Amino acid sequence: MERSNIIRKTAVDLRVSPNLNEEVYATFSWETIREQLAGLPGGGLNIAHEAVDRHAEGPRRDHTALRFLGSVSHRDISYGELSSLSNRFANVLRRLGLGRGDRLFTLTGRIPDLYIAVLGSFKNGLVVSPLFSAFGPEPIATRMNLGEAAVLVTTPELYERKVAGIRDRIPSLRHVLLAGEEAATANIPGTLNLKRLMDEALETFEIAVTQPEDLALLHFTSGTTGTPKGAMHVHAAVITHWSTGKYALDLHPDDVFWCTADPGWVTGTSYGIIAPLLHGVTSIVDAGDFDAERWYRILEDQGVTVWYTAPTAIRMLMKAGPELAKAHAFPKLRFIASVGEPLNPEAVWWGRETLGLPIHDNWWQTETGGIMIANNPALDIKPGSMGRALPGVTAAIVKHHEDGTVEVVEASDQEGELALRRGWPSMLRGYLNNAERYRQCFAGDWYLTGDLARRDADGYFWFVGRADDVIKSAGHLIGPFEVESALMEHPAVAEAGVIGKPDAIVGEVVKAFVSLKAGYSPDETLRKQLIGHARKKLGAAVAPKEIEFLPSLPRTRSGKIMRRLLKARELGLPEGDTSTLEGS
Ligand code: ATP
Ligand code: MG
Repeated sequence: MERSNIIRKTAVDLRVSPNLNEEVYATFSWETIREQLAGLPGGGLNIAHEAVDRHAEGPRRDHTALRFLGSVSHRDISYGELSSLSNRFANVLRRLGLGRGDRLFTLTGRIPDLYIAVLGSFKNGLVVSPLFSAFGPEPIATRMNLGEAAVLVTTPELYERKVAGIRDRIPSLRHVLLAGEEAATANIPGTLNLKRLMDEALETFEIAVTQPEDLALLHFTSGTTGTPKGAMHVHAAVITHWSTGKYALDLHPDDVFWCTADPGWVTGTSYGIIAPLLHGVTSIVDAGDFDAERWYRILEDQGVTVWYTAPTAIRMLMKAGPELAKAHAFPKLRFIASVGEPLNPEAVWWGRETLGLPIHDNWWQTETGGIMIANNPALDIKPGSMGRALPGVTAAIVKHHEDGTVEVVEASDQEGELALRRGWPSMLRGYLNNAERYRQCFAGDWYLTGDLARRDADGYFWFVGRADDVIKSAGHLIGPFEVESALMEHPAVAEAGVIGKPDAIVGEVVKAFVSLKAGYSPDETLRKQLIGHARKKLGAAVAPKEIEFLPSLPRTRSGKIMRRLLKARELGLPEGDTSTLEGS
């Protein structure tokens, strides 16, 4: 296929008329979006009411809301059932004396009880913090103490392995509810059997009248650049979830949607739980870990129409080779989106050439609560770009002044910090116990993202790097992303992570860490070839001076390459917080 620097959308790409168009941009306001939501009968706004009960009370009552796949059980739950189950859970909480503002943590795999607990908690006004089940005891204790956990939902196995030993260090924790299939027979002192409590609970519940500004979610950041921060989100975030589900992910009522993220990360909650339910679609939940063959099978067998995944998964599928993809067919699939890290142009093209659809990168953060910048179905794709600001979002490139103020850079193609005009509904309302860090996120009207980017004349944003990762070499500012993307174009390269290594003469030299695809050996010839390839693409000033081969790159459990670890290891410095490091 001819590769150009733009992928133009044609009628073939737009089998379903996209929700987003220029008219939506022209007429958009958050107030009108808010009016599309039901609101609570007595006033107020509650995520669970919008996501579940609204559909359970209407014609979508019997439509499948969640379809669980995975090793343990396959199970479909309709909107009607999800409403009853989350009502029961809300009653369980009430019976235990837990209510408004109390914090519920979850530590489970992607099992039905997790989803029921999150929604039931919203119904009774609790604040939810889903933890990734692969965390070890220390990160669990730190987060639960920071969030003052009152109740934990976990499985017997995870409780005994990870929580029992730290329980006395979490004084706020009043109840542990054991969930999942093995919980039925478990008898562990100090815990309660969730199934029994659910069986005893009523399946009707009157939702607590939560207000838009009431806390709903605590989400910890990925820890890519340092110690994870606890971002606080409110029920009003549901307005963004609805809007982005519609305009960035283009959800239509008959879609079968699959978000591959775990709810332990914000993507797995905003788009793995809330947004698809808001739109009444069927949402696939896969309990298993990444496996290329199984993933292709899920896409095919489940007739997934809209797929939301991450660059790390796409790179792994690319590594698995095109034959595996070609052994499957995806006639129903119509839209693929990706988030979490920069998406190399190579990956966008791989989607187009191997799956028949280009991959749509979008950008957001734990702090933004929802997608802010996106390649949407109606927009031509410039591979390597994150797309345009969504309706209701004003994004800009800003420069910092010494006095702490910022200035918007009006000219296009200038690098600077990516900033968002404050006020979108899902903006974080604070960091747990860190008011100072929260204050630093803002300058006047602007929320500062900590990412560097540029905007082109068509309004597309291009990621340059995290402010901490940008390399200063001989007077040049080099974004690791462009160097990594150039290396990725070489057929041998599976993954690349680029850092600046201090150098007495030029400030920093560019060093690349590279993992190879199967069939390539990490030898001197290949190293020279890669340096030559990068020089041709990037010029000698930007190309890496050093390349080191690694079997794989250190990444967070959410799949992000941890450049700060590559750098710390290179320089023999302390590794810092590694609680989110995969395999730790
Ligand atoms: P921490 O803040 O703890 O260091 P983190 O920033 O990785 O971790 P998240 O909130 O999960 O935590 O990730 C948001 C960040 O991920 C963004 O600020 C950006 O650096 C990166 N990111 C997300 N999507 C994209 C994208 N499409 N392109 C480039 N970078 C992205
Ligand atoms: Mg961050």
